[in-house]
Amino acid sequence: GNIIFSGIQPTGVPHLGNYLGALRPWVKLQNEAEENTMLFYSIVDLHALTGQQPPEILMQMRTEMMAALYAVGLQHRRSTIFCQSSVPQHAELMWILSCSASMGQLSRMTQWKSKLALPDDASPFDTVANKPGLRLGLFSYPVLQAADILLYRATHVPVGEDQAQHLEFARGLAASFNHAYQHPGLASPPLVPPQTILSPAKRVMSLTDPTKKMSKSDADPKSRILISDSTADINRKINAAVTDSIEGITYDREARPGVSNLIDIMYYMDDSVASSPQDLATDFKDMSKRALKAKVADTIETHIAPIRHRYQTLIENEPQTKTLLRRSIDHTRVARRRALRTVTEVKSLIGI
Ligand code: ATP
Ligand code: MG
Repeated sequence: GNIIFSGIQPTGVPHLGNYLGALRPWVKLQNEAEENTMLFYSIVDLHALTGQQPPEILMQMRTEMMAALYAVGLQHRRSTIFCQSSVPQHAELMWILSCSASMGQLSRMTQWKSKLALPDDASPFDTVANKPGLRLGLFSYPVLQAADILLYRATHVPVGEDQAQHLEFARGLAASFNHAYQHPGLASPPLVPPQTILSPAKRVMSLTDPTKKMSKSDADPKSRILISDSTADINRKINAAVTDSIEGITYDREARPGVSNLIDIMYYMDDSVASSPQDLATDFKDMSKRALKAKVADTIETHIAPIRHRYQTLIENEPQTKTLLRRSIDHTRVARRRALRTVTEVKSLIGI
């Protein structure tokens, strides 16, 4: 059967980009999965350490993320939902993979550059020399991510477009490991190169700078709409969204990134409104930006309201929160069992 794995960092309440690019596809995969499909969804707190939050904030964000995952529709009977740091094998496999990961390849990854607000062609060597901000953990982030995925022998990984480059890297690591440690006694290769699943809404842009993706860690809270935002928050943030001074509504992600992002958000929230973002823009061609924003905010509100309600119930009701944490103990056990199997096999192959 298929094995689905994906992760999300506990760096804040999920926003529309997380929801449309990852969480909604996770729920869809869960709801449409066949009996023999396994689904692993991880709160990747070891990855979040690269952001260096205060400990009590990190602790709180893990609980909030757990509530958010259930609020969007994941179910404990179908999906295994667990914290990465509760399964020690993530760090163990990471070290093993680090020993064959290429520094050159890691230096071409764009994520560490965008987290440090550097140009895509920045070299880590200049960065280390000029700026103490490049930590080893941020640089080697994709190796830990590869370990996360390969540990569960995932066949499919649903992510947003910003992670596509890291998945390519993970496939490369798996292939070279399999090549280096072929073993005639093995029925299948030790590591499984996974397929990337990109949702159609693969890159939702920031509301304050539509040339950047929407991010949990962006310093400006107005850049994103959270699944917990109130009706008033949604209206205020959409109203303040940066657009342009061109008359009318057209869809062109290059020339009109702000307007196109709003069209995309509305279309992907509810694709019954038109047959494509382009068609939606044509329907709205004579509309003012103010009126467009009102429609977008309305669509978001309609779809977010039930999620916000479930989220609030889970977060504010202590017995409910405790139930989630208790379930995560059972799920951790399931995850550990599978992770241990892979690491045991990998270690015996490499001779330790
Ligand atoms: P951070 O700023 O802390 O990195 P993030 O918003 O990038 O937070 P992650 O936890 O890194 O969120 O990623 C979780 C998932 O959400 C990944 O699959 C990622 O590709 C997806 N994702 C993140 N941002 C967007 C976006 N703007 N559009 C579509 N998908 C996104
Ligand atoms: Mg991210």
